[in-house]
Amino acid sequence: MSGTIGFVGLGHMGGPMAVNLVKAGYRVVGYDLVPELLAAAADAGVEAAASAVEAVAGADAVVTMLPAGRHVLALYRDGGLLAAARPGTLFVDCSTIDVADARAAHEAARAAGHRALDAPVSGGVVGAEAATLTFMAGGDADAFARAEPLLAAMGKKAVHCGDAGAGQAAKICNNMILGISMIAVSEAFVLGESLGLSHQALYDVASTASGQCWALTVNCPVPGPVPGSPAERDYRPGFAAPLMAKDLGLAANAARAGGVDAELGLRAARMYAEFAEGTGAGQDFSGIVRAVRQRSGR
Ligand code: NAD
Repeated sequence: MSGTIGFVGLGHMGGPMAVNLVKAGYRVVGYDLVPELLAAAADAGVEAAASAVEAVAGADAVVTMLPAGRHVLALYRDGGLLAAARPGTLFVDCSTIDVADARAAHEAARAAGHRALDAPVSGGVVGAEAATLTFMAGGDADAFARAEPLLAAMGKKAVHCGDAGAGQAAKICNNMILGISMIAVSEAFVLGESLGLSHQALYDVASTASGQCWALTVNCPVPGPVPGSPAERDYRPGFAAPLMAKDLGLAANAARAGGVDAELGLRAARMYAEFAEGTGAGQDFSGIVRAVRQRSGR
């Protein structure tokens, strides 16, 4: 592969993603506000820039992996990224952000003469390190085609979901299913406990019956039935509860804005937010089973 990538945001996800682009043969010029993260990426072959603007100035494509929409929009506009890039640069934002912010980012990039793609990811830090992420992308077909080689260097699958914002929409809809189903599985285990049903018996039935789902058979919220699940290591993440709370918050915003009666999604967003602010701060999202038990006085 050839070409120069400007990469801004070298945190838990962005750091290993940038390194995978280097491994695939790209010249990667990176920047992060945290000097230690920039130094670690430089040790792995990323060229350290003195600023975000410097990172994108000579790039063919720009990848951002930032905490939230306000960071992306601030960098694109006031931070000068769009103004500093060569005309026609491809801007790929892999952060998980509000659908409305993603659409605003596309609009700003287009107005500045660039191409844009929202391409949030699933797969976590493990997927970022192993280049096995799944990308869900929104933007026009040309932008997706241009981004495909980059995405292939950082992941195993990229789905073109539709126009601007469609990648973010797919991400929050998927995670709303996941968040709700983890609560459903947790409530079923706690109800089973109250009825004297063993975890293994419920698992053996539900995992081969109509209750089967990823939250049960891969990330089982009680220890025992699924070796290696976060429940088996005292709920060390995995997918941390604050990240689930963030994604469900974005889903709840989108539901309210669109007048969608997503009653369980909104309830789940509140449950994860409370959990993440309290005992769940450093736990996997499947630790929500403990919150269910506590609310049940058990
Ligand atoms: P992180 O906080 O580790 O990384 C974000 C980085 O952006 C930080 O290092 C921060 O210093 C940097 N940053 C912020 N503002 C900046 C600026 N103006 N200029 C340069 N750098 C700046 O977060 P993360 O876990 O890597 O997550 C990044 C995004 O990916 C988030 O939107 C998150 O929701 C999403 N995501 C995370 C995971 C996960 O498991 N961590 C999984 C899927 C999606």
